Order: sequence, then C-alpha cells, then structure tokens
Amino acid sequence: MSSDLTDLYQQVIIDHSRHPQNFGRLDDATRTVEGVNPLCGDQVTLYLKLLDDRIADISFEGVGCAISMASASLMTTAVNGKRCDEALALFGPVRAMLTQSPGNEIAPAELGKLAALSGVSAFPMRVKCATLVWHALNSALEERPEMVSSE
Ligand code: ZN
Repeated sequence: MSSDLTDLYQQVIIDHSRHPQNFGRLDDATRTVEGVNPLCGDQVTLYLKLLDDRIADISFEGVGCAISMASASLMTTAVNGKRCDEALALFGPVRAMLTQSPGNEIAPAELGKLAALSGVSAFPMRVKCATLVWHALNSALEERPEMVSSE
C-alpha cells in the first residue's frame, strides 16, 4: 500500500473518531445491543430500527479508542438503509480485511469507505476495537435474545 493511501486512511479514521456519524440514541429503535471490548475498554451501544427486513435507521453511543469509534461511525454509515442480509454479508469481508497479513492490505471494492480500516491489520491488538461494533450488529440482526432488548 502506498504511504499516501495509508495517510488518507489514517485521516479518515481520525475524522470519524472526532466527528462520528450516526452518534446518539435512537428513540424508536427496535433493537438495542451493547458491546464491550475489555482489552481496550471500548464500549458501544448500537441502536437499530428494523423495518421489513431492512435497516431503516441505525445509530450508536459509546466511549472508546479512535479505532472503535471510527469503526462504529463507518459501519453505521455503510449499513444504513441496507437489507439485513446485505449488512450481515459485509462482516466476513471486513473481518478478512482486518486480520490479513500486514503489508498486504487488500480492501475489496465492495467495502467502499470501510477500506479505511484496512490499516488496522498491522496492529493485531486493535482488531477487536474495530470488530466490536460488527459483533454488536451481528447480535442485533441474528436476534440473539440474551443480548437483545426489544422495545
Ligand atoms: Zn479500542
């Protein structure tokens, strides 16, 4: 990866962590899931409003490191308006991107702006920061009752 691209990705992560998109409580959420990454201290609460198998709205609240907040911001932006199965299908490629060999970053075109997280693969300790909000999304969409509080 060129260093220009690395700089661009770092800038995207900094921007999203400082000014997260979709940040705040969703009052008419139909699913709420909390996620914690004890390794780093990241905490997110994910709010989803599901309508006809579609993510009609999504937001999050939380505290954590720049990577966890940027990942939540990027993820909620990427899946907002998508069908639930389309949103779930993104997790595999995202996890593959985050856990691939350093120096060999590949960001599939389908991931769009999520490619900004590809540099995280160089820091294995931080992978859980980036995947935290995706695990929360998975739980919410797969209706795991122990982790989901319906309205
Ligand atoms: Zn973190």
